[in-house]
Amino acid sequence: MPVLHMNSRILLIEDEPGVVVTVTDLLSAEGYEVESATDGESGLARAATGAFDLIILDVMLPRKMGIDVCRELRQDGVDTVILMLTAKVQVIDRVIGLRLGGDDYLTKPFDPAELLARVEALLRRVRRSEPISVRRFHFGDVEADFERAEVRKCGRSVSMAAKELQLLRYLVDHRERVVSRAEIMHEVWEYSKEVSSRTVGVHVAWLRQKLEDRPQSPKHIQTIRGRGYRFTA
Ligand code: CA
Repeated sequence: MPVLHMNSRILLIEDEPGVVVTVTDLLSAEGYEVESATDGESGLARAATGAFDLIILDVMLPRKMGIDVCRELRQDGVDTVILMLTAKVQVIDRVIGLRLGGDDYLTKPFDPAELLARVEALLRRVRRSEPISVRRFHFGDVEADFERAEVRKCGRSVSMAAKELQLLRYLVDHRERVVSRAEIMHEVWEYSKEVSSRTVGVHVAWLRQKLEDRPQSPKHIQTIRGRGYRFTA
C-alpha cells in the first residue's frame, strides 16, 4: 500500500522568528503539519529522518548554510522535495541551489499566496508519482463505481454531477486524512479562477445530502474545523 492517507508534513528550517511564525500559521491553517528548526545543524538532523513530505529551507542559516543542508541531504539519499528561501534574487544562488538538489526557489519577502501555491505544486508533483485512485469503493450503504461514474445508495442510483463525483473520488483516494480546501481547489478544480473555498463547501454539502444518512451530522465526510475535511469509510 502506498503511503497516501497521512497528512502532509512540512519541515521549516528558518532562523528569523517572524518568518517562522508567519509561515507556520499560514501552512497550519491549510491543514499541513508544520515543524520548524532554527539552525542548519538541527534542521539537517530533523530532515535526515525522511519523515517530511516537503522541506522549506532558508539559504542563510546559523551553524550550517541552507545550501550545505541541501547538498548533505541529497548525498545521504534523502530526496524530500525542497523549497529554498533566499533573501534576494541572485542568479548564482539559484543555479548553485538547484544544482545541489533544491526543487524550487522563493525570494523573500514573498507573498503568502505565492508560498502556498509553490508548496501545493511541489506536493502535487510528489503525489503524482504515486499510484492512487481507487476504481470502486464501498462505504456504509453507498457503492461508488468511479470508472463507470455510477453511485448507488441502498441499491438505488444516485445522480451525481461530474464535479461531485471527482470530489468524492478525491476524498476517497485520500481517506482517513485531512485534506484542506486549498488542496481540493487545486486538485479537483485545478486552479480555476472562479473557484473559492465556498464552492468546495457547497459541493461537500451536496455530497452529504446525497450520500449521508444524516447530512447534518455526517459520518463519512467530516469537517475538521479550521483545517478542511476528512473522509472516513
Ligand atoms: Ca536566515
